[in-house]
Amino acid sequence: MPENRADVVVVGGGTAGIVAAKTAAGFGVRVVLIERERTGGDCLWTGCVPSKALLAAASAAQTVRSASRFGIVTQPPIVDFARVMQHVHGSIAEIAPIDSPEALTEAGVDVISGDAVFTGANTVKVGTRILHFGQAIVTTGAHPTVPAIDGIDNVDYLTSDTLWDLKDLPQRLLIVGAGTVGCEMAQAFSRLGSDVTLVGRSATILPREHPEASSILTQALTDEGVRVLTCTTVVRIADGSAVTDTGVEIPFDRVLIATGRTPRTASLGLDAAGVKLNDNGFVQVDEHLRTTNPRIWAAGDLTGHPQFTHTAGVHGSLAASNAALGLNRKVSTTGTPRVTFTDPEIASAGIDVRTARSRGLRLQILDHHHVDRAVTEKATNGSTTLVLDAKRRIVGACVVGPRAGETIGELIIAIEQGLRTRDLAGATHPYPTYNDGPWNAAIADVKAQLGSPVISRATTALAKVRGTWIRRARDTQR
Ligand SMILES: Cc1cc2nc3c(=O)[nH]c(=O)nc-3n(C[C@H](O)[C@H](O)[C@H](O)COP(=O)(O)OP(=O)(O)OC[C@H]3O[C@@H](n4cnc5c(N)ncnc54)[C@H](O)[C@@H]3O)c2cc1C
Repeated sequence: MPENRADVVVVGGGTAGIVAAKTAAGFGVRVVLIERERTGGDCLWTGCVPSKALLAAASAAQTVRSASRFGIVTQPPIVDFARVMQHVHGSIAEIAPIDSPEALTEAGVDVISGDAVFTGANTVKVGTRILHFGQAIVTTGAHPTVPAIDGIDNVDYLTSDTLWDLKDLPQRLLIVGAGTVGCEMAQAFSRLGSDVTLVGRSATILPREHPEASSILTQALTDEGVRVLTCTTVVRIADGSAVTDTGVEIPFDRVLIATGRTPRTASLGLDAAGVKLNDNGFVQVDEHLRTTNPRIWAAGDLTGHPQFTHTAGVHGSLAASNAALGLNRKVSTTGTPRVTFTDPEIASAGIDVRTARSRGLRLQILDHHHVDRAVTEKATNGSTTLVLDAKRRIVGACVVGPRAGETIGELIIAIEQGLRTRDLAGATHPYPTYNDGPWNAAIADVKAQLGSPVISRATTALAKVRGTWIRRARDTQR
């Protein structure tokens, strides 16, 4: 096969691209991956990895600060921000080899460095080189959205792309946007010692989560000293100060813009390839992740599916199987799991609580005062909510509390497999763990069923029959 032909060309070397390329190469076809900057993408360099490393450092500071509630006497923690950032970059460096060009080459993928531009329905250009492909998978991700605030162009603002180059801890940090990234960074910087103001346009922070979960987190952030302003829009900004639509002036040393992410589709030549965008600017894909050009597929943040690493990876693999093998795999329609890695963590999967309420689905809620592990760790400000359909199948869940991101795992399986509360209740769980939240919620639902008039009459009748049978057996033996 000539050098400039490939069975599958993958454009973009983030999570979706790496998984797609490795999956396709595993099928034995010739795969070329084109990456313009560095393989690993947002997750490794500017997203999940640095943010979770920063949160871990902030959590250590908070543990020291709050140790007295367990009777441990400490001095206030001293935060050495330069060493905190060393830890952040050390975490990236430790994970980077897995996503490196060398690892891709090892997996049978040819990696080309450069900007990819489609020049036709089956051609893509990198520099002066034109590649012909059988199939292509576009995985160019998304970049931070910067809202049109009056004066923003004259401000040296931070985004998730530039935050990790900070050398000094900002004394006063304004965060615009109260979604997952905004909330995580508000707690991290506050715990490290910044004076943080978090501003969100919606009525609650984390507007996609259910109001109770948002209010638990709002309380936790406020208790730690974060100033949380909801229903508020920043309308004017200059270096050092911002003004909101409610007339509040917020002085700051640095401002972080965390108002969502825009698909990276500009200058990709998608028009030339016949790949259309939808009304929101995302690449238009069908349920198989095929674009409007039947040879071209798309996966990850640029498709309008939930913007998570796990979605990017799973969809990258699915697109590669469909592209390389001609399969017809469809994206899952059960709700994508998501976690906000604050303290408490908020983890959801399947049908969310707002939708459940609007559809009249049953909610089984367990307050974490009834989770003994939470009591022993003084972490009872949380809850488990199971969304149940008419057959008591678990169709959604939201867990708020420590390690909610881990706890949600068994609920994802329950949702995917159509399990009922009785299945979960019947599986012995080790005591005491945070998984007692879902387990006890499931047990409570089963008990409620046993208490219903029909089942109660049936069990009473059964117990009576059994009592009669035991008495007769005893009489016969005499
Ligand atoms: C602060 C932050 C924290 C996050 N935390 C989490 C988390 O905890 N859990 C989670 O699941 N998700 C998290 N995310 C989201 C997650 O990082 C993304 O969903 C994921 O990285 C998307 O992967 P992707 O492959 O679609 O795109 P990307 O990772 O953005 O990869 C796209 C790649 O394409 C390349 N590219 C772009 N244009 C071209 C071109 N023309 N030619 C060649 N290459 C090109 C880019 O250089 C890039 O490497 C977080 C995001 C942020 C910003």
